[in-house]
Amino acid sequence: MAERPQNERIIRETTGSYRFPRGGIGHVGPYGVNEQDPDIIRFENSREQVTRLRRKEEKTEAKRSRNRGRFALVALVIAALILGFGGSFLFAHGVRTAHAGKAAEEMEVVPVAAEAPAEPAEAEEAAPAEETVSAAEAAAEKNEESEAAAVSAAVNDDPSYTRVINRSYPIPENYIAGSGRLSSVEGIELESEAAKAMEQMLKGLRDTGMSIQLVSGYRSDDYQRGLYERQINKQGGNKEKAATISAVPMTSEHQAGLAADLSVDGTLETSFSQTEQGKWLEKHCMEYGYILRYPPGKEIVTGIIYEPWHFRYVGSPATASAIMSSGQTMEEYYGKTLKPEDIDAYRPYLNESY
Ligand SMILES: [Zn+2]
Repeated sequence: MAERPQNERIIRETTGSYRFPRGGIGHVGPYGVNEQDPDIIRFENSREQVTRLRRKEEKTEAKRSRNRGRFALVALVIAALILGFGGSFLFAHGVRTAHAGKAAEEMEVVPVAAEAPAEPAEAEEAAPAEETVSAAEAAAEKNEESEAAAVSAAVNDDPSYTRVINRSYPIPENYIAGSGRLSSVEGIELESEAAKAMEQMLKGLRDTGMSIQLVSGYRSDDYQRGLYERQINKQGGNKEKAATISAVPMTSEHQAGLAADLSVDGTLETSFSQTEQGKWLEKHCMEYGYILRYPPGKEIVTGIIYEPWHFRYVGSPATASAIMSSGQTMEEYYGKTLKPEDIDAYRPYLNESY
């Protein structure tokens, strides 16, 4: 009986965490570790993301305190008016008792008048700040959109986009697939064509009203090596077990800039497949040139456990659709299966029930 990986156990080693304003917790370096992911997940750019979100919050806070200032001023003016009115009322009451009833009636109106400006001021506190952010976001989105549309036509079938990367077929050092260039998407780096396709995929998903986070993309060789060595130590020197958790250096698609990990709340768990976002991505990823790279039931073929969050860019929607509809993994589709020495020792740590 093979030892099962502890699928539900998530280990996190973080130096801090940050709760995103729209839900979810972002983990601030150096590592967010997920035992399920053979590539240890590092929220590589979460620092930048967090900085960006903090800046946004600071702006919102500044706006709020400006509004609070305005509110205080309005309250002061109203208080002065009430005092002034009260004074004249007392004066009038003393001199002209006949008008006391009418004055009292007006007095009743005063608190209402005092409350009336207070309410819009309070509503303003939350609403315009949010609107300002949304407007900025919409503008940014518009720019991205036109750029993404131009790119869509340029997506090509460069063979390197379909390069099979696994323990038996490692990549050269300093290899970035496709264009050889990296671009940033929401603070996460990916190969530039993969990045543009990712922008479109994120937009497509968000257009349905759902939220999603891109949590991991390109990783440098050194970084992947560090992760792997760290994992070996953690596994008491068991290299095989470590390799099922953190990819052996030069065998991670993340190092080629072609892989992206997506999440609803910043964590990467099997349960992602049950979320509406996970289901949408599995159904639509091929329309953007991405495939679900490590499907369930193919652990022994890929050497990697089921990862519903890990998407691999393969160059075009046509290629992605062909692979996905074949029901095969890249290993099978391109005939680059793992050599016995690259799978046999790893079997105890993979799911063999299929
Ligand atoms: Zn991944």
